[in-house]
Amino acid sequence: MAEEKKKGITVKKEDDMAEWYAQLCLKSELADYAPVKGCYILRPLGYALWEKIQEYFNKRMKYRGVQNAYFPLFIPESFFKKEATHAKGFTPEVAWIANRDEEGSERLAIRPTSETIMYDSYARWLRSWRDLPIRINQWANVVRWETKATKLFLRSREFLWQEGHCVYETNQDCDREVELFLMEYKDLCENLLAVPVLYGRKTDKEKFAGADYTMTIEAFMPDGKAIQCGTSHNLGQGFAKAFGLSFQDKNGEASIPWQSSWGISTRLIGTTVMQHSDNRGLVLPPNLAPNKVAIVPILYDQTRDIILGKCDQVKNELREFDPILDDREEYTPGWKFNEWELKGVPIRLELGPKDLEADQVTAVVRDTGEKQYIKIKDLKSAIPEMLALMHERMFKKAKQHLESSIVEVRNLDELNKAIEDKRLAKTYFCGEPECEDLIKDKTAGATSRCIPFNDEKAPKGSKCVHCAKEAKWNIYFSKSY
Ligand SMILES: [Zn+2]
Repeated sequence: MAEEKKKGITVKKEDDMAEWYAQLCLKSELADYAPVKGCYILRPLGYALWEKIQEYFNKRMKYRGVQNAYFPLFIPESFFKKEATHAKGFTPEVAWIANRDEEGSERLAIRPTSETIMYDSYARWLRSWRDLPIRINQWANVVRWETKATKLFLRSREFLWQEGHCVYETNQDCDREVELFLMEYKDLCENLLAVPVLYGRKTDKEKFAGADYTMTIEAFMPDGKAIQCGTSHNLGQGFAKAFGLSFQDKNGEASIPWQSSWGISTRLIGTTVMQHSDNRGLVLPPNLAPNKVAIVPILYDQTRDIILGKCDQVKNELREFDPILDDREEYTPGWKFNEWELKGVPIRLELGPKDLEADQVTAVVRDTGEKQYIKIKDLKSAIPEMLALMHERMFKKAKQHLESSIVEVRNLDELNKAIEDKRLAKTYFCGEPECEDLIKDKTAGATSRCIPFNDEKAPKGSKCVHCAKEAKWNIYFSKSY
């Protein structure tokens, strides 16, 4: 049997996570580098994961009254300049279109985010309190001119995301939904991706350019670095004032609305891959996996046809799990086992002559590698249970890592040690952006991750971990992607 040797991942996750991750993304065919610097290609498997995220989140958003729409990729320069903090925050990473329609016409930016172009329309659409709330989402690509090295799914010049943009009558309504969509993100991470997150508020230094405040969810990777996975901003009235949004309130008075925006991106794919996968390849959380089952027939000349027939029957019975039947005869069963392990299919079903005699399949679960024999008639009820248990194990393992990584620190030496030990440092902080800059400089790059939700205020009399001034916040610091 002629077959191409497939090269596995040549480094171990525990030895060199960056190289392991890059090889894994390429060899499992999730993604590939593009001929254009700073860009990458989502191959069909990577894109299928994004589609699963879209499918899950569309359902949740629509239940919350959000509608999808699409706005242009190009943003007039004057729109950017309208909200000063926003313009300042994004200017260094905006890509501009060089060709113009005519001499003297305005420059166009490629959107790094769509607040400005959307709110220009909102200003024209909004008239009365009856038009509120506005809840619109767009699934789109955005461009931010990164200068650092590309990391597949984690850092690139162009990436895919969703951005929700809402408008409310009152700040209370806005606050409530900023929290609501943060919680939706937390739910998505936990239930779809099996990724536990810290959640809470960003510091003033780390908040979105132009926002009153930013809420965030943060995952913590096995190499001791956090990944910001999603953010939900209360934009206050700044953009509304800059773009001329106003409405007639219930008393007939002109009133300025409150706005929020919130987003998650293809970063979630990188986070999930890095969190769960192992040295044999991807370990996809069952709810995210596009194909939950791969069926591999063990073929010999005498039983070939009858086994293929049985496999077809199994595939048909399990169709709700989007099974793959790998009946290619140019590859050995062993090669196929490796292939589906590399690609992270949650359950592999093997069917050979011995299984046929016992009217069973041999089932192997991807995360543990555990083998069990299941009667074919019981498969349809056994598979959901196996998938549910796998999700639970993966979430629990990741959560144990997150929780056991947290260490309380009270001064800069302890913070430094925590960062060197790849831990997540919980401490007290004064809240000053300058102090936060110094912390980053004096440690190996520690940045604030979040002020924990429902546990924001530092105890009375507590001191900032760095400047020893009175502390305002409880906070997490770590290195980050
Ligand atoms: Zn301080």
